[in-house]
Amino acid sequence: MPAFENIKDAFPIFTKYPNLAYLDNASTTQKPQQVIDRISDFYKNENANIHRGIYDLSMNASNEYEAVRAKVAKFIGAASPKNIIYTKGTTDAINLVAQSYLENRLSKGDEVLISAMEHHANLIPWQQLCQKKGATLKVIPINNDGEILLHEFKEAISLQTKFMAITHISNTLGTINKVRRMCHMAKEIGIPVLIDGAQSIAHLPIDVQDLDCDFFVFSGHKIFGPTGIGVLYAKEYVIKKMKPNQFGGGSIKNVAFEQTTFSEAPSVFESGTPNIAGVMGLGAAIDFIAQFDKNEIADYVHELGRYARIQLATIEGLKIIGTAENYSGIVSFNLGTIHAHDVATFLNEENIAVRAGHHCTQPLMDIFEVPATVRVSFTIYNTKKEIDRLVVALKKIKQFFE
Ligand code: PMP
Repeated sequence: MPAFENIKDAFPIFTKYPNLAYLDNASTTQKPQQVIDRISDFYKNENANIHRGIYDLSMNASNEYEAVRAKVAKFIGAASPKNIIYTKGTTDAINLVAQSYLENRLSKGDEVLISAMEHHANLIPWQQLCQKKGATLKVIPINNDGEILLHEFKEAISLQTKFMAITHISNTLGTINKVRRMCHMAKEIGIPVLIDGAQSIAHLPIDVQDLDCDFFVFSGHKIFGPTGIGVLYAKEYVIKKMKPNQFGGGSIKNVAFEQTTFSEAPSVFESGTPNIAGVMGLGAAIDFIAQFDKNEIADYVHELGRYARIQLATIEGLKIIGTAENYSGIVSFNLGTIHAHDVATFLNEENIAVRAGHHCTQPLMDIFEVPATVRVSFTIYNTKKEIDRLVVALKKIKQFFE
């Protein structure tokens, strides 16, 4: 598609490695020059701590830090920048919700609902909390195609359900879940929902108000931004119920030895010196994406996912894991009985970077009865030519092992 034709030129890593087919974007994306420049500009020309100094550098840094918060809010359709809490990433954001929101509300006998395709980051925090509280972690099953069926979702809900945490797009299967429907069904019975948007933020236009989720989490590094910065979106009514889980500078109004009065959200959840340069980089990443139509990005990445599924299916003995009707640009597969790690090692020889392993979804591997898969995941700088190269390389690997 013309919009992304010369897009690789924006990413210095492809100047250094012109023949690299980087197909591991679900893990992390490469960084455009403007994001790299923004971070280095901040340190070169603008560096100061935020929310403290009353000198120009500090005030400018504070303003910029808050301007990015407004940019993030707009990017995901949040009602206000006050709904946006900066975190270290998706994992950090989920742990924050588990500790700051759910911990005080969960009791013995309660249930927390997740799906069978959750990333460990959207499983372990709930599992550990349930164990601590004597609650039960209940798992919504998936079908053989790797889909959550809405009637199964409904059946999994009970009077004991206190919270739900569901991934929008599976990082392993590529399945796009019907989270909008799920959020609306949960709202009817007053159960808060967290949507893990770690993958969907890169693949779909996101409007948190339209989804009507209570929490939405994502990481900057999956949308061309830096590592170590992420976002927790929370509705106002749930933010009001959250208690800070970390204490220190930057999140207080008044401190005496006897007691502390805390500042308001979102800063109350951002104590200590935050990742200021990371926030600047995230802002630049959002600006970078903003030059494109979000629907065009979604269509392009989906088309790569569709093309890859068709081409991979032509290889005899290759099995695609995850054949949902509604999918994005993520495909998992195994090549006969050749171990995924061997496949990835051989692909590396061909300058093709893919992920092999359990993708932080071990229970999902158990369901599909595989120890690991090879996963390819696409973004706007990938091309059908790269998929053709992948297919040729896989055929070669197959011949070698036969
Ligand atoms: N959830 C999903 C669906 C993911 O794909 C990932 C990253 N692979 C995470 C959570 C965790 O993200 P992070 O490592 O950036 O915290």
